[in-house]
Amino acid sequence: MGNPIVDKIRQAGVVGAGGAGLPTHVKADAKVDTVLVNGASCEPLLNSDPHIMEQEIDTMIRGLKAVMECTEAKKGIICLKGKHAKAMKAVREAVARDASGTLEAFELKDFYPAGDEQVLVYEVLGRIVPERGLPLHVGAVVSNSETFFNVANAMDGKPVTHRYLTVAGKIRQPMVVKAPIGTPVTDILAFAGGPTISEFRVVDGGPMMGKVLPDVNKAVVTKTTSGLLVLPPDHNVVARKVMDPARVRQITNSICCQCSRCTDLCPRNLIGHKLHPNKLMRVFANQELESEQAKEALLCSECGICEKFACPMGVSPREVNAQIKRILMQNGVKWVATGTPEASAFREERRVPTSRLIQRLDIVEFDTHPSYVGEFTPGTVRIPLRQHIGAPAQCVVSAGQRVQCGDLIGEIPDKAMGARVHASISGVVESVDNGIITIKA
Ligand code: SF4
Ligand code: SF4
Repeated sequence: MGNPIVDKIRQAGVVGAGGAGLPTHVKADAKVDTVLVNGASCEPLLNSDPHIMEQEIDTMIRGLKAVMECTEAKKGIICLKGKHAKAMKAVREAVARDASGTLEAFELKDFYPAGDEQVLVYEVLGRIVPERGLPLHVGAVVSNSETFFNVANAMDGKPVTHRYLTVAGKIRQPMVVKAPIGTPVTDILAFAGGPTISEFRVVDGGPMMGKVLPDVNKAVVTKTTSGLLVLPPDHNVVARKVMDPARVRQITNSICCQCSRCTDLCPRNLIGHKLHPNKLMRVFANQELESEQAKEALLCSECGICEKFACPMGVSPREVNAQIKRILMQNGVKWVATGTPEASAFREERRVPTSRLIQRLDIVEFDTHPSYVGEFTPGTVRIPLRQHIGAPAQCVVSAGQRVQCGDLIGEIPDKAMGARVHASISGVVESVDNGIITIKA
């Protein structure tokens, strides 16, 4: 029989709330010495992590302790930026109250990407995660603060049904709100008073790593939706995300001047990983995708520093790396690490301050630190069976069936890696179509 804590996490359908959605029971099924709570909230404009730290600290710490117990970790470190003063105070007080002596608070500097888990592990523990490796390879598990909040609920038998998210940008009432999984994005925007402009695009996530929603009318809140940013279609943040890949190649070929600034500021290069975006620009321009150099693209986290901050010529090494990476992965190419990475001596001075990044992105006017307004309840939810890394869940309900909030509606396929999916409102299953379960209250 497996670990009972890991099993409860699996049953509750907990996935990493801060990133790509790795099922948390997979991450928690390891033995490490330290568990890190990633409360860096490093993407500009997003504010739900500080809210959870401030208002739900005791619940979050219960989740942290559950993961420490199942991983046998002796230490739990809660990491956040000092600029979130109220959250920092709540964390420090909770750590002082705790009698176990196993918890610490760690104040992060305000730079991007402080929340990249490999950067975080280096900042807090001074350990370098191997190239293409995971924090557990250096004795650590890292998860976002909302994930630990969800783990605590899982210990009480409560599955993941809701998500905290930030609504910001050209919207009447920027806010942090709690919404059921599957809430239509248009409903959330209406709840926030609606966009202040008639033509707009919506970014799901932060301005650096978020994705522009192809069709806002079809999009819903998922377990990994950390924010919704409403921006003009020609805004710098949107334009770079929707650029035609062929145009990216054209720009790379014609204007990369090989100044190496992208490599100098690359956070992965700065922790010693063998990633040189400037050299990858040459590889891409010459279409030398079978060269050894091309494999370096596999080390890119797609953080966007090179594209949105470093490059003076408007070239996008991030997109180029993403294109090379896709081709290499389709061809089954693997990275073979050689040597032990060593962090750059220039690393501290080359970290990018968030305030400068916000200016460069032209989003100063949206940096309003909105507060939590409460819970929103829609009349209908459309819940995707795939919201996580791994196999999509298998539907276990049918149209016409009545469900209660928290009932299981999607099960992990036999012997597959995946995450369970639960009803996020009580009501009747209206349809099961194309991997989406629609429930009407
Ligand atoms: S910073 Fe821009 S111009 Fe300079 S090497 Fe990198 S991609 Fe080329
Ligand atoms: S997106 Fe650019 S800066 Fe970020 S890891 Fe990749 S190459 Fe480095």
